[in-house]
Amino acid sequence: MTEKTLKLPIYLDYQATTPLDPEVFDAMLPFLTEKFGNPHSVEHSYGWEAEAAVEFARGQVASLIGAIKEEIIFTSGATESNNLAIKGVAFANHPAKNHIITVNTEHECVLGCSRSLENMGFNVSYLEVDRLGMIDIDILQDTITDKTSLVSVMAINNEIGVIQQLEAIGQICKDRGVIFHTDAAQAVGKIRLDVDEMNIDVMSVSGHKLYAPKGIGAIYVRKGTHIIPLFDGGGQERGIRSGTLSPALCVGLGKACNIAGNNMCKNLNYIKKLSQRFFDNLSSELKYLKLNGCVLNRYPGNLNFTLLGVKSNLLVADLRDIAISTGSACSSAKHQPSYVLKAIGLEKMQIEASIRIGISHVTDVDEIDYAANHIIECVKNLS
Ligand SMILES: *Cc1c(COP(=O)(O)O)cnc(C)c1O
Repeated sequence: MTEKTLKLPIYLDYQATTPLDPEVFDAMLPFLTEKFGNPHSVEHSYGWEAEAAVEFARGQVASLIGAIKEEIIFTSGATESNNLAIKGVAFANHPAKNHIITVNTEHECVLGCSRSLENMGFNVSYLEVDRLGMIDIDILQDTITDKTSLVSVMAINNEIGVIQQLEAIGQICKDRGVIFHTDAAQAVGKIRLDVDEMNIDVMSVSGHKLYAPKGIGAIYVRKGTHIIPLFDGGGQERGIRSGTLSPALCVGLGKACNIAGNNMCKNLNYIKKLSQRFFDNLSSELKYLKLNGCVLNRYPGNLNFTLLGVKSNLLVADLRDIAISTGSACSSAKHQPSYVLKAIGLEKMQIEASIRIGISHVTDVDEIDYAANHIIECVKNLS
């Protein structure tokens, strides 16, 4: 009997990035070789071919989130989309409105944009989250003033997997005439999102978090929402994002969105099962295990937990057979304790004993069982 050999280290860091889906690669390939036209060339068939592919991809992105094609603008990724959303909306509504609201557990780039705006004289309110990582809807209500142009709240947190109440937030924003932006880099293609049902006006999408390549993303901008572009140039993408598009990358994002939409329920159920199995395996052996973030409003493919008494940097170094992070790729690079875990009330010791496990539909049971046993062994050796 032959046992399937596992490829080590087992990749369980899907919040940092995901592998390119082979089907996505196949769809992209012709646009890197013979179909090399500039999609903005309108005078010959090379251009038309590229343009048609880009427009088809735009429709695929739109359809995943309940938008119309014209509301999708391709960007280089969620960092650019977040910058465009936050600065673009703030600038467009200034000086009549000079206040925006965000949350202190947002991605670095959202917090960075907010700080930049503060330096320019805008007012920013940073909502706090409770111990589960959720914002308080009543406090959001009370924080909105007649000077507020934008509320930016992420869909799924990249460190703890918590899902915010998008529908409720969207309703408040709609009622108060405030633009609602969500950084949905971790959510698009993973959970159902509908820009109309959730009253989302602007949404950021990242390709490499949903099995498309790195360097491509999109921003959804609801019809009628005014955004000041970040770049001056040829006026592509309805003037919101100048620069020649990469048809290959656009096709990749479109295809990835299409695949994700077709498999969403199946994948989510599968990931839920694996996630539960993994956590049960760990909890049966490790009694000082605590899941971080809300249990109910959570994406099951993101498990963040504290192993009390263990130093996670030692543990992560010991866990040679699995590729994981202690937190977000950004804050790990700076070797700073996670501000997200701090925001949900964890002490320094607890933050240092926390790790994040990402589970994907491409993860299999053998991998997840191996990983759980490996963690249990390493923890036992360390304590
Ligand atoms: C990865 C990520 C980003 C940045 O996306 P890029 O496409 O890498 O620029 C922004 N927000 C969240 C929540 C993310 O997970």
